[in-house]
Amino acid sequence: MSKVENLERILEAFGPHLHDAPYGGWRADRVIDKVVPTHCPYCAVQCGMNLLVENNHVVGFEPRYDFPVNEGRLCPKGVTAYLQIHHPDRLLHPLIKRNGIFERASWDEALDLVVSKFKELQSKHGKDSIGVYSGSSLTTEKTYLMGKFARAGLGTRYIDYNGRLCMVSAAAGNNKAFGIDRAANPWDDIPLAEVLLIAGSNCAETFPVLNKFLWQQRDNGGRWIIVDPRETPTARQGDLHLQLKPGTDVSLANGMLHVLIEENLIDESFISTRTNGWEETKALAARYSPQVAAEITGVPAEKIVRAAQIYGRAKTSMVLHARGIEHHSHGVNNVLSYINLVLATGSIGAPGRGYGTITGQGNGQGGREHGQKADQLPGQRSITNPEHRKHVCEVWGLPEEELPQAGVSVVEMFQKMREGEIRGLLSICNNVMVSLPDTNEVRRSLEGLDFYVCLDFFMSEGSRYADVVLPGSTWSEDEGVTANSEGRVVKINKAADPPGEARADWWIIQEIARRMGREKYFAFDDPLAIFNEMRVASRGGNADYYGITWEKIEKQNGVFWPCPSLDHPGTPRLFEDRFYHPDGKAKFHAVEYEPPQETPDEEFPLILTSGRVVYQYLSGNQTRRIGFLVEQCPEPYVEIHPETAMKLKVNDGERVRVVSRRGNGVFPALVVKTIRRDTIFIPYHWGEDLAVNQLTNPALDPISRIPEFKACAARIEKIHSRQLPILGEKRKGVSRSEFR
Ligand code: SF4
Repeated sequence: MSKVENLERILEAFGPHLHDAPYGGWRADRVIDKVVPTHCPYCAVQCGMNLLVENNHVVGFEPRYDFPVNEGRLCPKGVTAYLQIHHPDRLLHPLIKRNGIFERASWDEALDLVVSKFKELQSKHGKDSIGVYSGSSLTTEKTYLMGKFARAGLGTRYIDYNGRLCMVSAAAGNNKAFGIDRAANPWDDIPLAEVLLIAGSNCAETFPVLNKFLWQQRDNGGRWIIVDPRETPTARQGDLHLQLKPGTDVSLANGMLHVLIEENLIDESFISTRTNGWEETKALAARYSPQVAAEITGVPAEKIVRAAQIYGRAKTSMVLHARGIEHHSHGVNNVLSYINLVLATGSIGAPGRGYGTITGQGNGQGGREHGQKADQLPGQRSITNPEHRKHVCEVWGLPEEELPQAGVSVVEMFQKMREGEIRGLLSICNNVMVSLPDTNEVRRSLEGLDFYVCLDFFMSEGSRYADVVLPGSTWSEDEGVTANSEGRVVKINKAADPPGEARADWWIIQEIARRMGREKYFAFDDPLAIFNEMRVASRGGNADYYGITWEKIEKQNGVFWPCPSLDHPGTPRLFEDRFYHPDGKAKFHAVEYEPPQETPDEEFPLILTSGRVVYQYLSGNQTRRIGFLVEQCPEPYVEIHPETAMKLKVNDGERVRVVSRRGNGVFPALVVKTIRRDTIFIPYHWGEDLAVNQLTNPALDPISRIPEFKACAARIEKIHSRQLPILGEKRKGVSRSEFR
């Protein structure tokens, strides 16, 4: 065992005592030969951090005080992020499954097999028989490459990305209301707002360092209105908590709009000069009196009135929202109903007045800008728009007739796998057996594939089903850009080479394309070459990166897009003068309340909702391996209100079976007063029989195609101790011991 491996093991073992050291990383006898400024790989705060490198090994981190967003702060995930880089579970060689066992293979063997299988499937079943499922933890260069790889490399229409499970309702709502998909304000504006309306976001846990701005706002005398079915750590800090029934946001927002109109708290001048669609929306709001909204949401009418008064009377205010309102079969309408409040009060386009979407994945924003969405081309262009298609084909040098048409969302792609239309799949940086809804059906999809290639740096519950596993790079082993939740483009820098025979992701993808005979379109020497082509491809689009260079990013500590020319400084605050619809105006949308696809009944009397905890990140494939984080939150649990628990005769800590129409799972009960009596909550970072997504409903929003993770009907059953499953290793990440 090398010295560094030994030290990493010590750090793993002493994870809980990391705070004893001044900074992360072992200090004794260490000779740091490189300090690399970069950003955290996890959420879209994209906190700055310095990685400490000794002999091509990342051995620790130091705070990066120069990055204005976090000014040195990091959350528990951030301070332990570097421990994944040389983790013993890293994939070090390509793997080919033979007789059900993964065996080590050379790169030539693995890539040749991938290419021959893809060619065989496409010659038998057509180009669209291969699907590509990409991710938003990748740099934006890689997301651009993935879109080009699917369309110009494989010629398939079927590509989508895991932001489909995250931000697409916000994206669709933003596009419909504002004509562009980006948060309206830099976070510097948050402390200037008298009132924050935070809907469906437990940002204290899921976006921890954002709290810097929230607490500054509080220090300035600001107030918070929190909308959430759970009294989360965020809600506990709020001035007013609207604890609504999951999935009833449209009714709540319409009720607030009703009060704003009744009490003349709207901005008539802004509405008449800068918006369309007001009269219809006003007429609709008239039907949602506070009493009607209270009946639907379960929030007392007087609280709805009070919330509207606090929000409407503030001179400055901002609305922030996240998955709590977006993960619904009416997620886009939920988003639009809150945007109606912003537009009705004219509180947008000025310091402390605006609107923001709280992104989940590190590059959730950048990942939905440059063409890896099923319906999108680079620059937030549309694949169905002839002008947009022409522009991108010219940049790529691709004949227009070769550019495929729009595909479908990832949930629908998995349906097509079960139906046999998609026969082969390439996935990168995602863990489908944890993160997709209805995982029993997902398993059927994977088992039905003729060929599955998984590119990642750890094995996962999903990659177990692969035929070939290609070892890729962590964020610290490559360079490129990401866009944080504000739309600020930041630079990720390379600290060390990938270990063993692992390779940079962009090299692997390009190599497959080249071996498919498409080298003409994939002649990139490095990520900078990809970035420069992407700048040109995005030029003139909404997400215009043409004026952004890596040097400008470093110099300015981030550049906000759109940035249309090299002498342009970027655009931190949108909508000061105009919105992005052709007439320059924003649009109201009159949205009616519709219930979730499943509502409680006699058989399934509870509403199951899901979400995240501070110590784990998304599918958990990175964080479930880090000792400190596992100790803090080793397994999922089900939150139950004490009165509900009493009715069911369930004790705190007792393992119970949670059942929905799609499956069941066993979880320890966490009896808490902080949840509604009719609602239960399970965090989602685990796989197999610990996955809440065995239970969730794959019903999709008709516009964004996001699944309804946040509301399905469920029941709780008591179980006898002899029926209890054995847990153990399932709590952790999938290890390398599964293959030879
Ligand atoms: Fe990383 Fe987000 Fe935590 Fe910052 S807040 S350290 S970006 S996980």
